[in-house]
Amino acid sequence: MDKPDILALLAKTWQELAPMALATLLKSKGAYVNVRGLIEFSNICQRNCLYCGLRKQNKKINRYCLTQDEIFKAARDAASLGVDTIVLQSGEGAADAAWLAEVVSAIVADLKLPVTLSVGERSRADYELWRKAGASRYLIKHETADPKLYARLHPGHSLKERIDALLLLRELGYEIGSGFMIGLPWQSLSSLADDILLLANLKIDMAGAGPFIAQAQTPLAAFPSGRAGLALRVLATMRIALPWANLPATTALATADPISGQKNGLLAGANVLMPTFTPPKQAASYTIYDHKNRVSLDNAAQAIAAAGRTHKLNQPEQV
Ligand code: SAH
Ligand code: SF4
Repeated sequence: MDKPDILALLAKTWQELAPMALATLLKSKGAYVNVRGLIEFSNICQRNCLYCGLRKQNKKINRYCLTQDEIFKAARDAASLGVDTIVLQSGEGAADAAWLAEVVSAIVADLKLPVTLSVGERSRADYELWRKAGASRYLIKHETADPKLYARLHPGHSLKERIDALLLLRELGYEIGSGFMIGLPWQSLSSLADDILLLANLKIDMAGAGPFIAQAQTPLAAFPSGRAGLALRVLATMRIALPWANLPATTALATADPISGQKNGLLAGANVLMPTFTPPKQAASYTIYDHKNRVSLDNAAQAIAAAGRTHKLNQPEQV
């Protein structure tokens, strides 16, 4: 697909796109929905991304880091309920490399589940250490494919740096996941088409794209949040353009539309849900954006059933 093809799709409504997106998904990957157990193990961050409530300069936030035992226990709970992967996420620079490697190897060895890391840009040595410990996937979103907008949103950093990190991770044997935000200030439809083209060029394994949601303690607090309808249009277009990719219905989409976001995401071609297993006390401080919806395992199972798709989550016991 070239840029005019993508722009032509983006001009349609998500309801118009959904049948083609769903047909593409069923043909390329089937009806099965992958469920990842998300553990947001620390909100400590050394970066200052303009859109994010975890940014270092935000002093109105209780910073936390779960212990190794707390992370393992959350992962064990998720595994016992039938999730197929554990995703460990934090702010950038939160985790000591050796400490995190121990957590990864315990989860991989004892729970026999793949581990995905989403802990920001780190050194080659750290990526190598975690790969050796058993981590097999790494999520690091390119956030926006517009290099000027990227630089404006990430003081002192560049889009090239971000793409280089993805390429390095692939070279080290990780499956790589990228993604971007939809409805950012100063973002155009043409730039959203570039986001999708970038994912296609990178032959990305996974890509999460959800609406930008304003957060009160950030410099972008006063900007309007991205709309769920636009996010669904983009998601359906991504499914058509990237038939091979794992695409989640994001938590940001579930926040923009708490009632139908997850189900509509699946109907628009998503094949991944990421319910959270972060203990509720700490999850309340993982304030990437405002009014963040807590997607539970039950919410995920309900959305999958409502969309008429399949999963391998444990069924609740009949009483
Ligand atoms: N620190 C790591 C991982 C945690 S942030 C990193 O930045 O890679 C995870 C994702 O949250 C980011 O990639 C970004 O796309 C998303 N995010 C942050 N602030 C957001 C906001 N205000 N609205 C929507 N998504 C946001
Ligand atoms: Fe930190 Fe990630 Fe938020 Fe940027 S998006 S401030 S790196 S947690």
